[in-house]
Amino acid sequence: MTTKHATLGASASYTWINCPGAIRVAAGIPDKQSPEALEGTQAHDQAEHMLKGGKAAEGPFPDFAGDLLPYTDLVASLLDDGDILLVEQQVKFDEWVPGGFGTADTIIIHKNGLLTIVDLKFGMGLRVDAKENPQLRLYALGCIQEHQFMYNIDRVRIIVCQPRLDHEDEEQVTLEELLEWGEWVKVKALATLEPDAPVIPGLVQCQWCRARFVCRQRALDILNVMGSETLSPADIAMLHHHAPLAVKWAEDIEAAALAILNAGGTLPGLKLVEGVSRRQMRSDAEQVLTEAGLSRDQIYRQKFRPLGELESALGGKKAATPVMKLATFKPVGKPTIVEMSDPRPPMNVDVVADFPEGT
Ligand code: SF4
Repeated sequence: MTTKHATLGASASYTWINCPGAIRVAAGIPDKQSPEALEGTQAHDQAEHMLKGGKAAEGPFPDFAGDLLPYTDLVASLLDDGDILLVEQQVKFDEWVPGGFGTADTIIIHKNGLLTIVDLKFGMGLRVDAKENPQLRLYALGCIQEHQFMYNIDRVRIIVCQPRLDHEDEEQVTLEELLEWGEWVKVKALATLEPDAPVIPGLVQCQWCRARFVCRQRALDILNVMGSETLSPADIAMLHHHAPLAVKWAEDIEAAALAILNAGGTLPGLKLVEGVSRRQMRSDAEQVLTEAGLSRDQIYRQKFRPLGELESALGGKKAATPVMKLATFKPVGKPTIVEMSDPRPPMNVDVVADFPEGT
């Protein structure tokens, strides 16, 4: 499968919608694929193969079939006779976004006027939700642009399936609501074409921006935030709000420095050394340990298969629910600080622990 990237592509929409200047700042910077992105591409290739009727993994990469089953089962469960299934389909949405196109994982055009977009997210980092997800809404607009003249689509269902986080989310909008959003995103897209489009750092937009390693505005924003001398509770709250951006920025700076030194470049006051490594088992380790008198139980530790794979073995998520309710439990979540806008109710705290002086 060839992957094409549009300048105002759907997958980069979080960046250009939130930071209009990003297209200008990132111009000419190559789009290097991270190991996670490469793994995602391989998983999408396998999922495509499975949805088109294949079973085995193809190619010299890991077999992700077990992790992908919740996604392929979900797509199969949504299909009715006469529905049209399009897998890894390129869609153009340039009626709203100049030059905009992207590749949708799964599109289902149902007989009854419903359009379903299912997006596979193979990553295990951030949870991705369907509600107002610009990438998937752009795919939906692309389907309207390309297929509405043949099919009378009147509502759109958008589903995100993140099997390795056991996460699934859904949004449904009417055609009118989608088209209204299309007008909003058109304004955002046109703003990126302005010569002085502003550069606005933020966790969401910087995360996958090609300029994230070298963007001066991102560095300035973070260093300004970190410049306070003593911290009040309000400062701590503000820093907490910015901490994820600062942490991600520090990781990106580390990656940029590594890339320069690995390529034989120099950085003032820094050098490359061999890091700490851990012992690993050799391919004949089982034989060596068995000959030393260890049993299989002493050598190996058994692990449960991923939940999605177990549910699939039990006949799919729905059929598996009664058994999985008995077999699993959800421990109380660790106290976590979130923004006030988070829909979860505040946690009851009984004990007031000591906290640092001055706060
Ligand atoms: S790194 Fe962040 S602030 Fe800089 S251009 Fe990209 S999205 Fe904008």
